[in-house]
Amino acid sequence: MTRETVRAAVIPAPRQPVEIREYPWPRLEPGSAMLRTKYSEVCGTDVHVHEGRLSGVPYPLIPGHVSIGHLAAIRGTVRDIDGHPFKEGDLVTFLDVHETCGRCYECLVTKQTTRCPHRKVYGITYGADDGPLGGWADYIWMKPGVRLLRIPDGIEARSFIAGGCGLVTSVHAIERGEVRLGASVVVLGAGPVGLAAAALARLSGADPVIVIGDPESRRTHALAMGATHAIGLDVPPTERVVRVRDWTGGHGADVVIEAAGDPRAVTDALDLVRDGGRVVIAGQYTDHGDVALNPHRQINRKHVEIRGCWGSDYSHFHRAVRVLASQGGRLPWTGAISASYSLDRANEALGAVARREVVKAVIEP
Ligand SMILES: [Zn+2]
Ligand SMILES: [Zn+2]
Repeated sequence: MTRETVRAAVIPAPRQPVEIREYPWPRLEPGSAMLRTKYSEVCGTDVHVHEGRLSGVPYPLIPGHVSIGHLAAIRGTVRDIDGHPFKEGDLVTFLDVHETCGRCYECLVTKQTTRCPHRKVYGITYGADDGPLGGWADYIWMKPGVRLLRIPDGIEARSFIAGGCGLVTSVHAIERGEVRLGASVVVLGAGPVGLAAAALARLSGADPVIVIGDPESRRTHALAMGATHAIGLDVPPTERVVRVRDWTGGHGADVVIEAAGDPRAVTDALDLVRDGGRVVIAGQYTDHGDVALNPHRQINRKHVEIRGCWGSDYSHFHRAVRVLASQGGRLPWTGAISASYSLDRANEALGAVARREVVKAVIEP
């Protein structure tokens, strides 16, 4: 099938209201396809992009980096990683990262492919002038080389998008944290990443799993997702340390995952981790400034390991889909979606996420 245009919600420039624009249907080269969007996520990153706080974003921009939908127009043959060809009508998601080059220092020597300087990200570093390459649109152009994933039978599109970017990010964060059976884990932040990280920590065999964040409705959701304890932000940081020690035999947590976004959470994380434990910084995706910390007391003497966690690769998407296939029915993922919005209501969706009125908003074109 072919149409004349793609209808998209566009951020024209930082801090400008989202507008609806039409883009020409792209000329499909062999190995490419179009995805008819079912849902695309409104992520905290989209708020940062709208506020102009992420570098390297070419405006105007069609946001939406994690999306799900049905393949609508396949040119030539597009295959999954097992070599099976995709068919039109298949329900799929795709790795938002494209053009990781495989021939640079990061790809070949240090093998930190999420730091490849050539990578492009749908809805973030591909601008609207590059084509319909963002999810807040009725169709998304799957360029050759985009890694598509088939959604297994039995997983609803809504369950996948409820996990969405936060689930994929937290798969990476748990991997970086090397969460072991019987480990004690603290998650700082009760947004989509924190909620998914709590669920995955528990699925990994951690106990206790302590979530620190607001508001109360999110703490309740965290407990339903597998957290064993929750602490509100009204509890002062020194008292949070006391409680976490109480619940961890007096030691502090083996692993602390920072998914809060506030730089102060990093110094809190160092106070909550046990001696010789590990801190994963996953929430500082944009620059929210500096924070004071005591390197002697909080790092050196504690013999602490601190790890950054940047972006996602195919493996994290793949594992996220597998987790949903096995656990999707048992955990209340869709409880995280507070609202879905049409393209015309994208401004409302952005505002609701920015004001934290909703845990998760999705665009349903
Ligand atoms: Zn590279
Ligand atoms: Zn995101």
